[in-house]
Amino acid sequence: MKCEANALLDERREQVHRTGQGPIDIACNRDSLAGAVSQRACVFCGSRVVLYPIADALHLVHGPVGCAVYTWDIRGALSSGPELHRLSFTTDLQETDVIFGGEKKLEAALDELIDRHGPQAAFVYSTCIVGLIGDDLEAVCRRMEEKKGIPVIPVQSEGFKGNKREGYNAACKAMFRLVGSGDTSNVSKVAVNILGDFNLAGEIWIIREYLERMGVEVVANITGDGRVEDIRRCHGAALNVVQCSGATLDLAKMMEEEYGIPYIRVSYLGIEDMADSLYAIADHFSEIDPDITRRTSELVKDELDVLLPGLKDFRKDLEGKKAAIYVGGAFKAFSLIKAFRHLGMQVVMVGSQTGTEEDYRELEAITDPGTIIVDDSNPLELSAFIKEKDVDVFVGGVKERPIAFKLGVGFCDHNHERKEALEGFVGMYNFAREIHASVMSPVWKYVPRREARNA
Ligand code: SF4
Repeated sequence: MKCEANALLDERREQVHRTGQGPIDIACNRDSLAGAVSQRACVFCGSRVVLYPIADALHLVHGPVGCAVYTWDIRGALSSGPELHRLSFTTDLQETDVIFGGEKKLEAALDELIDRHGPQAAFVYSTCIVGLIGDDLEAVCRRMEEKKGIPVIPVQSEGFKGNKREGYNAACKAMFRLVGSGDTSNVSKVAVNILGDFNLAGEIWIIREYLERMGVEVVANITGDGRVEDIRRCHGAALNVVQCSGATLDLAKMMEEEYGIPYIRVSYLGIEDMADSLYAIADHFSEIDPDITRRTSELVKDELDVLLPGLKDFRKDLEGKKAAIYVGGAFKAFSLIKAFRHLGMQVVMVGSQTGTEEDYRELEAITDPGTIIVDDSNPLELSAFIKEKDVDVFVGGVKERPIAFKLGVGFCDHNHERKEALEGFVGMYNFAREIHASVMSPVWKYVPRREARNA
């Protein structure tokens, strides 16, 4: 507990809980504490990571060049076609623009970029400085939409106006302006939209292949390997299948209200959650397609026949090792805890940037006594928790990686920068292989902090 005493600011104590130590009453969904150096990104970054994988749209950051560089190709999301999303455009606002306004510069940038790249739509992101000087994004976008004949959509994502979750909401509102404008006449009755997967390493192609084997059509990927035209007609689907608790749930709720399309929450990580997700989709369509459940069972059985023998060898080495998890949305953490159990490992710390009370209650219910649960953490706290629990591997994103390596523990990137698919049944095998390689690497025994333990 000494580590925690040094690292945890008094104002942050309500955002940390230990499983089994009294009823969970964790404070969450708050603005980050000033000076605590939160792991969270800003509102603008939240909206950028959601919209960016739409590959045939122009993404223009109205603000200083730094905002654009910070989010340039941030997810590395793969596309099966156009790759316009990977270019980072900005109006590069300067001092004179701040004094006299940046609307003319924005209009000129849109004019030139739309002519040069011929996108299917343009998203224009508002940043902190635009919020301060008060440029009228709506008016500029409306004018350019009329002039160019494509949707030009403002994203109200001023960085300072809240936490990352508000960026997700701004992205959903922007996409919702596209929904409903496309032709749905040839959409089948057994059709879904995939929400909340960003195709970082080709995962959406794995999931689409499963759905194809089940006989389910996918209307739109929202947003991994996404296309504007698909989003315009996605109101023709009968079901929204939502992964990732924060990022696209708001869009699913808007579509339910406006078009009566129900949604289910799923996870493609780990064995049980992947299978449960496919069965939940099959259940939804079982009345109009009575054979879908049989096809789904066959698919799951075939995949498990390949996967389970492959996991055994990894488990032999990993049994009893300890893991820490820090992710953006808490939903991913549920699946990771179960995935680690399949490898014989114990999760001793779990946290998220944007979890809700419900998420944290569920985390408490599925974790072992003494597990640290933390909301909106920072490097100092995470380092203290990792040292206190003496973990063997830390699962997180780009900002967590240096924490792990400085402390001399294994790391698994489960976020933007990964290059290997970790979803689906094949993803579970990749995850196990990566965890095994990282935990069992001989390099950790030369880390001074851990030498004493290994002596
Ligand atoms: S929008 Fe604001 S907080 Fe976000 S990167 Fe730009 S300046 Fe920084």
